[in-house]
This record gives sequence, C-alpha cells and structure tokens, in this order.
Amino acid sequence: MRCELRGPAGPVPLPDGRPVLLGRGPLTGVTDRKCSRQQVEIVANYAEGTALVTQRGVNPSSVGGAPLGRGGRATLRPHQTLHLVNGKHPLELHVEGGPREPPAPQKPPRDPPSPPPPESPPPGPPTPKKRPRDPPTPTKHPPDPPSPPLPKKRTPAPPSPPTAPPAPPSGVWHHLGSLLVFEPPGLRPSAQIAGFDLDGTLITPKSGKVFPTGPDDWRILYPEIPKKLKQLHKEGYKLVVFTNQLGISRGRLRPQDFKVKVEAVTQRLGVPLQVLVATGPGIYRKPVLGMWDHACQEANGDVTVSVAKSFYVGDAAGRPRLWAPGRPKKDFSCSDRLFALNAGLRFHTPEEFFLGWAPAPFDLPTFDPRQLDPAAPPIDPPDAPLLATGPEVVVAVGFPGAGKSTFLKRHFVPAGYAHVSRDALGSWQRCVAACAAALAQKRAVVIDNTNPDPPARARFVSCARAARVPCRCLHFTASLEQARHNCRFREMTDSGHVPITEAVLQAYRSHFVPPSPAEGFTQILRVAFVPDFGDPGDPARRRLFLQFSEG
Ligand code: ADP
Ligand code: MN
Repeated sequence: MRCELRGPAGPVPLPDGRPVLLGRGPLTGVTDRKCSRQQVEIVANYAEGTALVTQRGVNPSSVGGAPLGRGGRATLRPHQTLHLVNGKHPLELHVEGGPREPPAPQKPPRDPPSPPPPESPPPGPPTPKKRPRDPPTPTKHPPDPPSPPLPKKRTPAPPSPPTAPPAPPSGVWHHLGSLLVFEPPGLRPSAQIAGFDLDGTLITPKSGKVFPTGPDDWRILYPEIPKKLKQLHKEGYKLVVFTNQLGISRGRLRPQDFKVKVEAVTQRLGVPLQVLVATGPGIYRKPVLGMWDHACQEANGDVTVSVAKSFYVGDAAGRPRLWAPGRPKKDFSCSDRLFALNAGLRFHTPEEFFLGWAPAPFDLPTFDPRQLDPAAPPIDPPDAPLLATGPEVVVAVGFPGAGKSTFLKRHFVPAGYAHVSRDALGSWQRCVAACAAALAQKRAVVIDNTNPDPPARARFVSCARAARVPCRCLHFTASLEQARHNCRFREMTDSGHVPITEAVLQAYRSHFVPPSPAEGFTQILRVAFVPDFGDPGDPARRRLFLQFSEG
C-alpha cells in the first residue's frame, strides 16, 4: 500500500506510522512566510487508510475546511484536502492499494530486504543536528513499505524434509508506541537484571566503520562476551538490552532491518535476551528511565526487581579523549552512565565489565537536575511585592522553557492580570493589541514572551506609557541548561506545546540583552528557577523532572 499527499509541487510519500513534518520548503514548494517550516506533523495509518494531522505552526492549518489551531489535530481521509495555512496550499490525501493485505504466501519472511521501488525518495524532515548515536542508516532504502505482519514462527511449519529440523522460534516483538520489545522464548523474570546497551557494548560494526553499513554489518564486540552472558544467565540474572534507535522514528533505519539484526545477535549469543528499543525521542529514550520502568513494571512478570542486585553496562559513559592507551576518542555521550545514575544502578563500561579494565575517568554534565534547591529564594530583591494593586504592564524575559508561563499562571493570572502571549496569539502585533485592550479596561497585563532584547520589550513599554501606567520587568534567570532540561520535560509531559529546538534556544541566547531601567521599566525583578511540583504534587512528575534527560 502507498499513502501520499498530492500538491502542486508533486507527491509527498507518507510512511506508515511515522511522523512526517511538512511546511514551507522544497517538499511542498510553499514559500509563504505565514507557513512554518514545520507547520504540520502527519502520521499515516495504513491499516485505516487515513493520516493524523497535528498543527505545529502558529497560523491555522485546516483539514477538510476545518481549522485545527496550534496543537490541534484531525484525521485526514482519502481525497480530503489539508490546507497548510490560512486556507491555502492544498494537499490531497491519496491512498493506493487499499487496506493492509495479507502477505503473499509464497514469499519467505527473511529474504534479504527487497530493493525498494526506485521512485519515492525518503520523506521525513532533515534532522537539524546529527547525533552521533543512533547510526544514520544501514540502508539507503526509503522507509518500509507496510511490513506484512511477521509470520508467527510458533505456528506449525508446513511439512519439511526430515533433514531440515525447524529453526527454533526466535521470539515475539511487541510494539508499544515508541517502544519495541523483543521477548525470546525461555525468558524468565528475575529480581536481578543484568542490563546492557547494544551498539558499542555487545556489538560493533564488522566493517570497522563508526556506523553499520547494513543489517549484517555487526560482530560481537569482545570474544569474552558470549561466555560472560551465559554465566550471568546461569547465575539467575535476566539479561536485558536497552537500546536507543532514534533512526527508526527519523526514517533512517528500517524497523524490519533492526529487528532482523537483533534476532541474529540474540541467536549468536545463545542466551535469552530481552531487548527494549526506544525508537524515538521521549520518555523511553535513555538516559530517561522509561525503558527501565517498563522492564521492571510491565515486562518482568510478578517479580519485583532489586536495583541493588542489578547493574547496567554501556559504552556511552562520558569518558574523555585518551581515556585509555590506544583509545583516543572521547565517548559520544554519557547517556548510558546517566541512565544507570537515574535508576540508581551500578554501572560499568564494557571494558570494565568484560575485560576487567580499571574504571576509566569520566565527566558528568554540568547541569544536574537533582542539585536544584527547592528552598532557594525565588525573587530578587526578595522583599519586592510581586503584584501591583492597580493597572500596569509586566514584561517577562527569559529562555523558552525558563518557567515563565508556569510562574505567571500560578501568581499573576489568579490575581486578575490579563495573560498575553505570542504562543496563544501568534504574533507580537496581536500581543500589543491585546495589551492595549486590557489596559483600556483598566486591567493589569502580563506579557508572557521571551522578549530577549530592548526592541522586543520596547513595544510593551510604549504601550504602558501610552496608557500612563507603570511598566515592570520580570526577568526569569534560568540558565540555558535549565531551559533545555525544562523543554525536554515539557515535551515528555505536555503534548500541547510545540517542541523547542536547540536553534530557538540559541537564538534567544544570541539576542539576549539584560533588561535595564533605561528601557523605561519602573522596576526589574529577577525570578530564579526554583523547582516546585506542588504540594503534595504528582510523584511521577517529580521523579521524571529529577532525571538527567539527555546524555
Ligand atoms: P516557559 O513558559 O518559560 O517556556 P514553562 O512555564 O512552560 O516555560 O515551563 C517549562 C517546563 O518546565 C514545563 O513542563 C513546566 O511544567 C516545567 N516547570 C516550570 N516551572 C517549574 C518549576 N518551578 N518546577 C518544576 N517544573 C517547572
Ligand atoms: Mn511559555
């Protein structure tokens, strides 16, 4: 089956179940500045022959004539039209081949992946920044055609010649959103988990390249590994692999190729290995604990895991360059060590664990969410009143993710301040209009934008001056690292907010000029980021916030 959007610039293929970001750009031919580069996210559903559209840009996209609004979604049906922005730039959904068909019976399941049809280029947005982990691609294929459901290997095989005994069943795959889980036969729950990363820990490209060139490009990293794993299995450990494979959601790695590789690796190691795969960003991606929590709470029968008796081995350990003789390169990240640290697990590098090397030096990230002080003074100067008694304009300043909206909604909105933000209104012009309108009704207003520089702030200072009311500035001083962490946290907990890219954070940083009384502020208050989860608050939220969220 094929699913595509047809527009003036030609068809845009939609792979099954994977997000495609569309907007202004060569894929659509749209140059309209009102249309964001990532105006909509579209996920095709081949089983239903539809596509789910989510608006990510500011200006309205519409499906079948109905505007979505930012964060809004709707299902696009065959022959229905998506207008990218303001009723313009139509794209019509076309579905060919009807609903999912059963696999052709004569086709064996594990042939080398059949060559892709040559015409369709891989869709999906270019990734803004290459991450060293999550190898770019083993293959140059466009994303999977809808893979026929894996033939169940457990079903009795057709009669075969007596000389070829049926291959042992290799296991079952479960799909849980951006988590894939492989369960081999003979896997037993255990209180003791021996956890392992995959690439760079158990296997490495046979080709000697940094990234595998194809699904067969792997070998066991150290000859000691199979024996060691068998020994752990005999001692009663459950062996669990936790691997990040962002390439799958990015369309650079075909899930089927990766599954075949995992099955081949587990066969080769000869021990039951449960494998958890984080296919995208979000809570399952190490160092965040989604995979660990799943392994303990959902995938270990009724047995409670003992963190003290378990451990984790991985090569993303934050080791500096030249960490050992003959090891010139620094680790590409620290996500494995941080994963263990988040979980409270003992941690070893593969060299320490399999080869018995002495512990190597390592660096942890400078930002540690666990070090935040909930008792720090939030306001500077500490005795300044937060709220005014009459109409005024309060201009917030701070990184995206600094905690502005949370703070303002907690303290200013309940006190009657009008809440003006570009996130909700779409442009600064509308913010200025909303500010003036509130002042005309003698209401106090708070401007909840990043407002990094004097020109951004001057619009609202003038607004206050025109209405002859005071104008104060609220400077949210959260650091770049804190803001990054908060943005990642928000992405994992609040699907309604557009994800903030690194480029947006850097733009704030490069434009930032500290607010000064010379700009016309009667007072400038500094607001520190003080973690606050409410009382008693949600323990799961607190636990997630206190985890290192990036390697
Ligand atoms: P901004 O409006 O500056 O972009 P938000 O207020 O949306 O930032 O906060 C970003 C993320 O950080 C949100 O997920 C929010 O829940 C979280 N957050 C904000 N302030 C706090 C706080 N004081 N303690 C814990 N989490 C917070
Ligand atoms: Mn906000």
